[in-house]
Amino acid sequence: MGLTSAAYRLGVFGGAFDPPHLAHVALAGAAIRQLRLDELRVFPTGQAWHKSRALTAGEHRLAMAREAFGGLPQAVIDDRELRRAGPTYTIDTLRQLRAEHPQAELLLVIGADQAEALHGWHQSGEIVKLALPAVAARARPDPDAPPFDAATLPGGRYLSVELPPMPVSATQIRARVQAGQDITALVPDGVASYIARHHLYSNT
Ligand code: ATP
Repeated sequence: MGLTSAAYRLGVFGGAFDPPHLAHVALAGAAIRQLRLDELRVFPTGQAWHKSRALTAGEHRLAMAREAFGGLPQAVIDDRELRRAGPTYTIDTLRQLRAEHPQAELLLVIGADQAEALHGWHQSGEIVKLALPAVAARARPDPDAPPFDAATLPGGRYLSVELPPMPVSATQIRARVQAGQDITALVPDGVASYIARHHLYSNT
C-alpha cells in the first residue's frame, strides 16, 4: 500500500513513555524517514484506559519525552493527552488533529504489540478511518511466537515500518532501576540522567 503524494504527512505516536527508551527513538526515526513524515507528533498518554499500573507523573514523562525525541527535528511533543481529564482515548486526539489539519494524511505509528491490541481500543473502527496504522515489528519474549498478525487490525489496511527487533521495554528499564542496575545502554543519555536526578523508579 502506498502513500499519497501531496498531503502533509502527520505521524501520530502515542505511548506512556514511562520512560521513553532507545526503541521508541529508533521507531520514531524510522517512521519519519520511511513514511516521509513532515511531522511526527508525540503524545505522552494520560492514564491509559488499558494500562492498569499507575503511571509516573505526567510532568516527568513529558520532560523525558523532550529529552528523548529532542534530536529529531520533525518530532513535536504534544501534551494535550496529559491535560485532558479522564482516561486517554486515541480517538479523541485523532478527531482533534483531523479538525486542526483537515488536509493532512494521518499515520498512526505503533509497535506490533499495540497494533494487535488495536481492535480492542475504544472506537477502533473510527481510529483506522482517521489514521492509517504504520506498524513496526517488536521483538517478542518468545522467539517461536508467530510474527505480527495483520488480520487482527480493524480495516485491514496498514503500512510497515522496518525496524530491527529491539528487545527493550519500559517495564524492563523500571525493573533494572529498581534493582540498582545500569540502564545507560537502553535509554538516551538525557533520559538516564533525568531518571537519576529525580530518583524515578527506585521505590516502585
Ligand atoms: P511498558 O513496558 O511500560 O508497557 P513499552 O516499552 O511498551 O512500555 P510504551 O510507551 O507502551 O512502551 O510504547 C509506546 C509505543 O512504542 C507502542 O506503540 C509500542 O508498541 C512501541 N514500542 C515500545 N517498545 C518497542 C520496541 N522495543 N520495539 C518496537 N516498538 C516498541
